[in-house]
Amino acid sequence: MNDMTDLMRSIAARSLEAQRQDAAKSSGPQDYAGEDGLLYCGKCHTKKQMWLKTGFSPEPILVATSCKCMQEAEERRRRDEEAQRDMEKIKRLRISSLMDDKFRESTFSNFKQTQNNTRNLRLCRRYAENFDEMKEKNQGLLFYGGVGTGKTYSAACIANYLLDRKVPTVMTSFIKIIGSVHLSNREEAMNFTDRLNRAKLLIIDDLGAERGTDYALERVYDIIDSRYRARLPMILTTNLSMDEMMGCTDIRYSRIYDRIFEVCYPMEFKGHSWRKAEASRRYDDMEKFLEGAV
Ligand SMILES: [Zn+2]
Repeated sequence: MNDMTDLMRSIAARSLEAQRQDAAKSSGPQDYAGEDGLLYCGKCHTKKQMWLKTGFSPEPILVATSCKCMQEAEERRRRDEEAQRDMEKIKRLRISSLMDDKFRESTFSNFKQTQNNTRNLRLCRRYAENFDEMKEKNQGLLFYGGVGTGKTYSAACIANYLLDRKVPTVMTSFIKIIGSVHLSNREEAMNFTDRLNRAKLLIIDDLGAERGTDYALERVYDIIDSRYRARLPMILTTNLSMDEMMGCTDIRYSRIYDRIFEVCYPMEFKGHSWRKAEASRRYDDMEKFLEGAV
């Protein structure tokens, strides 16, 4: 009992001494003794000491405590540290996201709105904002439509939105997946699939662009099926038309499409190619410039 009291007194004494030394070093407003005999902060005028009642000693012990401005500084430091940790986590997630650097700037706010994609943009944003619920329901998306209609860009917007919110997301393509895994090594292939399934959202670009070998199709099916079994959502993009997918009679393909349609909501991307639209906008801008209109 007495030992404990002595220990507490010595801790309290050391904290008071540290406080005195800090105050002596400080060039700011001097701390001062209040009417109650306790030390007050010269800056924020709140207490820097208090009487602590413990079960160990009959009398309360004088201890150092944090004044308001010290508490606020501590809170700021804690928040900065947390922000730093968040940034590091996002950085790590970005590295493991496999996403091409060129899609780093694909965000909802950078999205070029054209009449054709306003609705898709709205849907994608809602999907991203409600991702927790989508994940719960194992609800994915299938973006289909012609080349250059903004499918990959839209998928990247969702990926960036989630990565910025620390949701592990992987974005890759079937061509890359098949190219990166060795044919013969079943174990390596399984490890790779496991790694993909650590992502809360898996985005795979360009379904249908992979070579139609039995091996490639088997891999595509494996990845989609394992995702399906893990009850984790995926977003796929494809240049294939709905007719091509629905009317497919080749069982090697149709079993892939069947799986996809079970869990992915199809969204059609149509309209003029964005790349063409961008080119024509640049042409217009240049024309105006050369004619001295701007
Ligand atoms: Zn203070």
